[in-house]
Amino acid sequence: MPVESVFDRLELLLPLVSKPIQYVGGELNSQVKDWDVAGDATVRWALMYPDAYEVGLPNQGVMILYEVLNERPDALAERTYAVWPDMEKLMRENAVPQFTVDGHRPVGAFDVLGMSFSTELGYTNMLTALDLAGIPLLAKDRDESHPIVLAGGHAAFNPEPIADFLDAAVVGDGEQAVLTMTDVITAWKSEGRPGGREELLLRLANTGGIYVPRFYDVDYLPDGRIQRVAPNRPGVPYRVHKHTVMDLDEWPYPKQPLVPLAESVHERMSVEIFRGCTRGCRFCQAGMITRPVRERSLQGIGQMVEKGLAATGFEEVGLLSLSSADHSEIGDLAKQLADRYEGTNTGLSLPSTRVDAFNIDLANELSRNGRRSGLTFAPEGGSERIRKVINKMVTEDDLVRTVSAAYGNGWRQVKLYFMCGLPTETDEDVLQIAELAKRVIATGREVSGSRDIRCTVSIGGFVPKPHTPFQWAAQEHHEVVDARLAKLRDAIRSDRRYAKAIGFRYHDGKPGAIEGLLSRGDRRVGRVIRAVWEDGGRFDGWSEHFSYERWERCADQALADEPVDLGWYTTREREFTEVLPWDHIDSGLDKDWLWEDWQDAVTGVEVEDCRWTPCFDCGVCPQMGTEIQVGPTGRQLLPLTVSRPTGVPVG
Ligand code: SF4
Repeated sequence: MPVESVFDRLELLLPLVSKPIQYVGGELNSQVKDWDVAGDATVRWALMYPDAYEVGLPNQGVMILYEVLNERPDALAERTYAVWPDMEKLMRENAVPQFTVDGHRPVGAFDVLGMSFSTELGYTNMLTALDLAGIPLLAKDRDESHPIVLAGGHAAFNPEPIADFLDAAVVGDGEQAVLTMTDVITAWKSEGRPGGREELLLRLANTGGIYVPRFYDVDYLPDGRIQRVAPNRPGVPYRVHKHTVMDLDEWPYPKQPLVPLAESVHERMSVEIFRGCTRGCRFCQAGMITRPVRERSLQGIGQMVEKGLAATGFEEVGLLSLSSADHSEIGDLAKQLADRYEGTNTGLSLPSTRVDAFNIDLANELSRNGRRSGLTFAPEGGSERIRKVINKMVTEDDLVRTVSAAYGNGWRQVKLYFMCGLPTETDEDVLQIAELAKRVIATGREVSGSRDIRCTVSIGGFVPKPHTPFQWAAQEHHEVVDARLAKLRDAIRSDRRYAKAIGFRYHDGKPGAIEGLLSRGDRRVGRVIRAVWEDGGRFDGWSEHFSYERWERCADQALADEPVDLGWYTTREREFTEVLPWDHIDSGLDKDWLWEDWQDAVTGVEVEDCRWTPCFDCGVCPQMGTEIQVGPTGRQLLPLTVSRPTGVPVG
């Protein structure tokens, strides 16, 4: 039975809300397939990025799955985003349900509602969407008429805080996982839906790569720690494995990227040049959970750029990955792309933050064609000592040499990215940032012969994340982070010789504390999320909507009967023997290795990148039956600090 569009009712609300264009759909390369494209067995996916359209539309993960699913003749996929509070209010008053922007179909009518969580601060928006869709908030209250509510994305590597709201979660790469799920659902539907929702979920869990929280029981110790997490059904695996796509060239998505109708955070096309990172930065969850490194070939990248530009009309291409300058053929790639698009309007960008002169060569190459904005480098830690703790192998001299090369090459703006609140950090480590920034400006003035240069210091609060060596660490109190940053700001501003040349950007530490709660929480944290949402919590990733007071108050109330509280989840250091809420989610990393790396961190022992040194047994490759895939032409990667003359490509 076709499902009716809600657009007629929605249209009446559009003149009454901010940015109505975000709700109308019809973007270039979007699609609306027939509801019954493959009859009764059609598997219908609503894909949600739980943030506003302007943030959600450019999300590569959603874009890729949208296309992969729509290419299947027996499936359809549409997109939905979080609606702003003004629209939410009107939708409630006018009984308009959560809708997709493609067919404006009610989300509640789909088979699967798949949400991609890049950040945990989107959890309250998930509850708004479920409620507006008429889907019971708790998975246990749903029946066959409701979609399977599925989570993916990096935050799904610890799905426990939202376990009660989820029917399932997928960890790792989504391309093959959504196809596997579609196969399972098609078969179940074709067989006449035997065993109802319960059997479908059991079939999904039995694949070994789909986590169904209701099939796992969690027992707690009297002191609040977890005693054990164990399956409560036969055939359900003890640990759920992550999905890893090994040959990126076989998955050249998005082939036809979506072009936003309204202003969005990225007005460019993105091509992912490799996945994974083995640099081993100990704070970096993305690097740890996406191992091993898998590169896309130059030919594959070239074709994606060409076809994507033709399909979209974009004038800028971003070459994306976790550390783009680390692609083993990046020099050739940059040169060939710059040659190919020379004299056209196409701009190329490489969002690399690597601290070395080679990075500047690449930026010079890619900006041959266009304007030079700024260069970003990420030393992450202010002092040499703390950089050893986080395994960011960059010396102060490396940094100064690199930025002087940048200023010497005509760049006028340099942005330096740091973190505050790192394990073992002291005020002194953070105050070093001021000294570093002053040295950068002094050197820049010297090499450029100009006082017209700037350096912006941008600082984020550190949040320990699951599946990293810092998963056991105590998160720093937000008051301490704020006090340290205030001292740093004063240290920068008090030196008149440099104060005007150094910009200083930071956010207060409170959102980080809540991100910490949601990142390392267990199932009991679900009560807090629900209480915050019922109290009006929405768009927690936006400073104008975020309320620390609300989270603190709701945490106190929701956890009043438990031996745990906000501080227990955030500022408490864990022991090796503690069962962590995400231990049954298998990222491939060996827990013993992670612990050893945590011990090495405390003593400042560094670990090399396994792309150019022998394997150090993090566990991923043997466990996942995979291997690192770099250097399609057999080239060697460059060591970190090699300095090259401008414009000389790697080779
Ligand atoms: S198992 Fe070895 S080669 Fe594979 S990612 Fe880990 S350290 Fe690198």
